Amino acid sequence: MLLDLKDLVVRYGRRPALDGVTVSLESKALGLLGPNGAGKSTLIRALLGLVPIHGGEAQLDGLNVRREGKRVRERIGYMPEHESYLAGIPAVRFLRFMGEMCGLEPSAAMERAHEVLFYVGLGEVRYRPLEGLSYGLLQKVRLAQALIHGPRILILDEPTNGLDPEAREEMLSLIREMIEHSDSRFIVSSHLLRDIETSCSEVLVLKRGRVVAAGNIEQMKRTDKTVFLVRIKGDVDRFMAALSERGCLCRLSEREDIEIQTANGVEPRAFFEIAHAQKVQIRHFYAKRDTLEDIFLKVLEDET
Ligand code: ADP
Repeated sequence: MLLDLKDLVVRYGRRPALDGVTVSLESKALGLLGPNGAGKSTLIRALLGLVPIHGGEAQLDGLNVRREGKRVRERIGYMPEHESYLAGIPAVRFLRFMGEMCGLEPSAAMERAHEVLFYVGLGEVRYRPLEGLSYGLLQKVRLAQALIHGPRILILDEPTNGLDPEAREEMLSLIREMIEHSDSRFIVSSHLLRDIETSCSEVLVLKRGRVVAAGNIEQMKRTDKTVFLVRIKGDVDRFMAALSERGCLCRLSEREDIEIQTANGVEPRAFFEIAHAQKVQIRHFYAKRDTLEDIFLKVLEDET
């Protein structure tokens, strides 16, 4: 399992930033999605051991984050959200230093520094002092330092934040390429649905420290258009019988909704015709599952 969380709680002071998060996700590329303040960075920090866990359990790649923190960190390459570099030295020296910090021999670290800088498209500027580089280029330096030791898991915290549209697309396509062609697994956080949709296969949607949705993105993008939930005022049995005559499968849910699986060729508009004929009023009518976009829009609506 890439990520296995059981009732995870992390607080800053008395305020929970993660408030009982439970989820199990196996994924090559997992997106952490949620508006600012949702708890994405806190979850990443908890996985890295940078903030204490106050309750519950967290496992990453089968390792217990609390008990096996060092082994967890050895497996991770981390691209932080905010600037984190040493001024006054060129990118290649910074990368070599980071490589040595990760345990590489100096010559191997230097070789690898050149390699990753070329890989992220910074070959030409690798001898320029870091503080002279644009924000977009520094973002790539951050990505390069996460890659330096060839980690098993790459955690990228808001990798497109602050980038102009062109640089953002470039960063996203670099991430997609890495996901497709490397053996590493990825956790990518963003407050933008599109970033996650276009790069990840699974998603964990957080809001105010709680799980809103989790699972495979392709499945979540498909609304289940063959199953509908209908709530009516009137004779439920007669309405269900009339639907069954048209070949639909019906069942009454615990919440008194009628779950209708449509038969081939039966459009939802038929429910209204049947209701009219049976003198029944349809009070609620909706497709059974929300798409990822619906879920995310609801998350944002409640925030404003
Ligand atoms: P996200 O990464 O989704 O934007 P964060 O994990 O940064 O969310 O923040 C989750 C919540 O925790 C927010 O309410 C934020 O204000 C709070 N928070 C984050 N970092 C700190 C901190 N160092 N001290 C106090 N509160 C914090």
